[in-house]
Amino acid sequence: MTILPRSVIQLVYLAALIVTPAMAALDKNSEHATTTLGIYKTIVEMDSSKNSGGATEVANYLAAEFSRAGFPEQDVEVIPVAQTSALIVKYRGKANSPHPPILFLGHMDVVEALAKDWERPPFTLTQDKGYFFGRGTLDNKFGIAQISGTFISLKKAGYVPDRDLIIAFSGDEESGMQSTRYLARRPDLLKAAYAINTDAGGGVLTDDASAVVYRVQAAEKTYVTFEMEVKNPGGHSSRPRLDNAIYDLADALKAVQALRFPVMHTPMTLNYLQQTGQLTGGKTGKALMTFANNPQDKAAADTLFSMPEYVGTTRTTCVATMLGGGHAENALPQSAKATVNCRVFPGSEVQEVKATLQKAIANDNVSITTLTDYIESPVSELRDDVFKAITQAVEKRYPNVPVMPYMESGGTDGMHFRNAGIPTWGVSSIFLNPKDMYAHGLNERVPVDGFYDSMTHWTTIIKSLAGQ
Ligand SMILES: [Zn+2]
Repeated sequence: MTILPRSVIQLVYLAALIVTPAMAALDKNSEHATTTLGIYKTIVEMDSSKNSGGATEVANYLAAEFSRAGFPEQDVEVIPVAQTSALIVKYRGKANSPHPPILFLGHMDVVEALAKDWERPPFTLTQDKGYFFGRGTLDNKFGIAQISGTFISLKKAGYVPDRDLIIAFSGDEESGMQSTRYLARRPDLLKAAYAINTDAGGGVLTDDASAVVYRVQAAEKTYVTFEMEVKNPGGHSSRPRLDNAIYDLADALKAVQALRFPVMHTPMTLNYLQQTGQLTGGKTGKALMTFANNPQDKAAADTLFSMPEYVGTTRTTCVATMLGGGHAENALPQSAKATVNCRVFPGSEVQEVKATLQKAIANDNVSITTLTDYIESPVSELRDDVFKAITQAVEKRYPNVPVMPYMESGGTDGMHFRNAGIPTWGVSSIFLNPKDMYAHGLNERVPVDGFYDSMTHWTTIIKSLAGQ
């Protein structure tokens, strides 16, 4: 789960189109709600941070719950991967269905939490002041509990989908993603038509709990970090030589600063900028809409280039983030290094970006090394049936809220599945005020009403996609 970009937070304040919730009475006592809450409480109270072994505990607990609800033994698999585990649960559809399966993604691990820094114990589900507090209450045990509770409730109600529905939960999304890589290589999962991720997307609320927009994560930029290094024989600083590691590196960094990657777009990014422009209005809104209508409009592209909240949706970006060099105040530097972090637009390759940097720097003394183990993934353009299913789920709760696919900077399980050829959309059931976004942070929380209000989300999506 990633943090809401500033552009969306601004939308909350600028939106001309604000929709108040349908607020159907929340049924907190339904079997679906109590089952989901039971799962939520149990898994939040299992510390599944890195190296804790807790994600395996979560997988085993969930597997037992699925078995108890009537899922056959052979359809519930806990698979040990590296220091953690993955969980696969198959909800069998009608026999001989011509339709390929649908995957539902989530991750059972959480980011570490230092109890002494928290106001309440991080690994206890505490209900207080209208919130559920605890590590993972949002990221991603919220999604895990909601989709698991829905699978179990549908099974108990005797629902038979018109195709197989498959849960694929990873156990180390927040660290090495070894279990994600395993899942994204499983031949039975690769038969899926597409995947729906509980760990991204979601609705945006204002301070008076009205909804502005519902966002669907449809793409992730490739995250890659390079190290630029210059080596030099050095020498005594009283006898400066013409070549100098620090000067060479400084020139290289200035070249990176001046570099503008070409404008890029997909139907999804243009639609996002168009809709955002309409909601935003003013000069910024005009630039967004002009770009959306004609990405070659240089003035509009230049305006967006200068705006941190939009530049990333219009092109690949690379920026210097760390710097070091030299070893003594009276010695010529023998080496100088800088870290450059890039977010690569889908459709561009990391190797191309590296070559572009090398060309811009135009100095053979500067070596560029790729530091990250990157994953490239294409845009998942939204299918009509999936768009319709999401819209139905959103309308039940917040009528007339626009549903808007967007591109994220990268970091969820989704990119591994997109990389493996499975279109993937992040479709969390949460509607959240950006002020309540504490994923990875202290005192992570979810509004209690948002928890119960989510109860129709997955049922609506599943029945829309896999039959009533
Ligand atoms: Zn997450």
